[in-house]
Amino acid sequence: MEEPNARVFLDVSDGSVAMTEHAVVIAGGGPAGMMLAAELALAKVDVAVVERRPNHVLVGSRAGGFHSRTIEVLDQRGVADRFLAEGQVAQAAMFGTTVLDMSDFPTRHPYSLGIWQNQIERIMAAWIAELPVHIYYRCEVTGFAQDDTGADVRLSDGEPLRAQYLVGCDGGRSLIRKAAGIEFPGWDPTRSNLVAEVEMTEETPRGIRHDATGVHGLHRMEDGRTVRVVVTEQQLGPSSEPTLRDLGEALITVYGTDFGIHNPTWISRFTDMTRQAAAYRDRRVLLAGDAAHVHYPAGGQGLSLGVQDAVNLGWKLAQVVNGTSPESLLDTYHAERHPVAARALKHTMAQAALQRRDDRIQALVDVVSELASMDEPRKRLAGIISGLDIHYDLGEGHPLLGRRMPDLDLITADGPLRVFELLRDARPLLLNLGQPGDFDITPWADRVQLIDASYKGEWELPVRGVISAPTAVLIRPDGYVAWVGDGTHLGLPDALATWFGPPTAA
Ligand SMILES: Cc1cc2nc3c(=O)[nH]c(=O)nc-3n(C[C@H](O)[C@H](O)[C@H](O)COP(=O)(O)OP(=O)(O)OC[C@H]3O[C@@H](n4cnc5c(N)ncnc54)[C@H](O)[C@@H]3O)c2cc1C
Repeated sequence: MEEPNARVFLDVSDGSVAMTEHAVVIAGGGPAGMMLAAELALAKVDVAVVERRPNHVLVGSRAGGFHSRTIEVLDQRGVADRFLAEGQVAQAAMFGTTVLDMSDFPTRHPYSLGIWQNQIERIMAAWIAELPVHIYYRCEVTGFAQDDTGADVRLSDGEPLRAQYLVGCDGGRSLIRKAAGIEFPGWDPTRSNLVAEVEMTEETPRGIRHDATGVHGLHRMEDGRTVRVVVTEQQLGPSSEPTLRDLGEALITVYGTDFGIHNPTWISRFTDMTRQAAAYRDRRVLLAGDAAHVHYPAGGQGLSLGVQDAVNLGWKLAQVVNGTSPESLLDTYHAERHPVAARALKHTMAQAALQRRDDRIQALVDVVSELASMDEPRKRLAGIISGLDIHYDLGEGHPLLGRRMPDLDLITADGPLRVFELLRDARPLLLNLGQPGDFDITPWADRVQLIDASYKGEWELPVRGVISAPTAVLIRPDGYVAWVGDGTHLGLPDALATWFGPPTAA
């Protein structure tokens, strides 16, 4: 494995060690931070993650899985099977309490994956351990000072790190966001839930229960001993850490008993606070994941949003750091990802409202469920939750423009290949589906792969349906289409320069 290119600078006056530099420092090694580290390492960027936990182990199960587009982006990098092997697929997405069938979606992964976040993080940590990523565990970012060329990142122990860019993947309470002075507008919490893993002496009722306060659930974990408890509190809980006693009282209120809870391994509280960073970038500092957006976990979209933020940002930041693209490319990160999270936030607020169950809300749930059983609303809602309908605004044109490239079965000179297999190394791809040898992209050949291929099947996009077949597509490393050919090369040089930097002189 290639060693990361960390450089230690010497102060020539006295020879003492001054500062360790990395091209990019990521604060926080949760799902968003680890995904971003992988993307940067694949692009050969010297990247370091600073994580305050002693290792990747997450106490408590936390999120319960992710959705189809997240499985696809992991598939693009060749690691989806590692997650699929440990999780359970469900050919459905949830909106509030309504189950949305998505088995007819045109994707290799027409399902969501149930897998606990501590498993997800273990698998991600094993993956980035195979890549040249520096990780500083048991180390906390305590502040930073940015200037025109980068940031000095202060740590809880040891010397500061110097970085050309600092990315805050440090969760909802992000120190990076606060220290950068980035506004976090939104909605204050109106209700809170306790979530815990405990042992119980009494038998428990299975499944989910709804009442006027919200949703409650008891789920026996795989070890057969531990029960995962989610219970909505009668009043908004305080910001202090919850105790076993708080949990017992909340259970008695809902179930009439605390089931003899004991031996907790994890007790936490989450709320329906819904906020989004006003800007995802302040000069040399960027935000991704929960640092950029927080919301109630209804619909289970937080982790997926963060992983996809990272996949959108990774290749852009790599190109800027490597000098391939101007810094302005980074502005497209906010432009593309902010609207996606804003829409998800709105939907989680709607879903959270549908989880409260008095007679009036029940009437609303019935109406929504009836509508969602119709084809178009079902597809539209499932498209949003799965992330399969994401459409970055890259202008007018063919329906593929700005949308995800489907994972087609291609025939190439090297034999049959899936599109996603061509994205393994996170490199851009010009896929020529017309006359072989029809394209010459020599001025970008050091950055963009050119593959002649044929594809005989139908072109179909989730939600949108069947579309006309293009003759060529320019695919970004994140799997989104940046240019579509219709038999001519019109606009291709512009698209190549916009997304992958100016042409190299002959
Ligand atoms: C009960 C519950 C259920 C959920 N269910 C789902 C679900 O089913 N599906 C889904 O998609 N999402 C779900 N979510 C949301 C999901 O857990 C989060 O969206 C996800 O963890 C965000 O990932 P992240 O990497 O952005 O942040 P985090 O996971 O919060 O990671 C941040 C990391 O930064 C570290 N850190 C923080 N500050 C510093 C610092 N100053 N210096 C160094 N390190 C620091 C932390 O230790 C942590 O490892 C759920 C959340 C909860 C609470």
